Amino acid sequence: MSLEQFKNRNIGEQNYKMLDIEHRPEKSWDRFKQAFGRSIKIELFIGLAVTFGIMIRTLFRGETHTIRYPFEKIPISRRYRAIHEMKRLLESGNYRCIGCGLCEKICISKCIAMDTRYDENQRKEVSEYTINFGRCIFCGYCAEVCPELAIVHGDRYETASEQRASFALFEDMLTPIDKLKSQKEYPGFGAVSPNADDNIKKTPLAY
Ligand code: SF4
Ligand code: SF4
Repeated sequence: MSLEQFKNRNIGEQNYKMLDIEHRPEKSWDRFKQAFGRSIKIELFIGLAVTFGIMIRTLFRGETHTIRYPFEKIPISRRYRAIHEMKRLLESGNYRCIGCGLCEKICISKCIAMDTRYDENQRKEVSEYTINFGRCIFCGYCAEVCPELAIVHGDRYETASEQRASFALFEDMLTPIDKLKSQKEYPGFGAVSPNADDNIKKTPLAY
């Protein structure tokens, strides 16, 4: 449509609502009456009734549908894949990771970096282990592939950080030794059985 056609288009056929600008109220009282008449309609009272109804149900019947985050948190599924945790052996307290490197190799975001070395007893130990949570997509492959159930996804889902990339070191994710008793286990393939505590036996020294 050309500009000329646009200017001359027939707007009368398109149901435009024309404003009555000839009869604008001049006095304050008339302007107040016009504003009042336009604002106070039956829908307003219906909305207020709904609001008061919800308020009364919340105050007197305890039907609250919101929580006071961050003071309250909704429970998440045990299968939820949040920030990683490194587990310890319940028996000895040593970390379970054997440094096999499978988690590093399977990680599709390439956000796990690790290194191992031999300790004084010629046993392999993890010397470096970091996860870049700025790149992790929480796919769960690392936890899925771990043969020792050493790395799992925990329930800490608040990952906000001042930096775009936030790294976690092995020690950050490892269960603190004084919290070993309350270390959570996760059901799944190869997981520790629920009565694992009952089955733990001390290895005899003269074995
Ligand atoms: S959850 Fe996925 S992306 Fe994140 S560290 Fe594990 S394998 Fe890598
Ligand atoms: S966390 Fe598991 S998969 Fe990764 S190096 Fe340790 S034992 Fe291997």
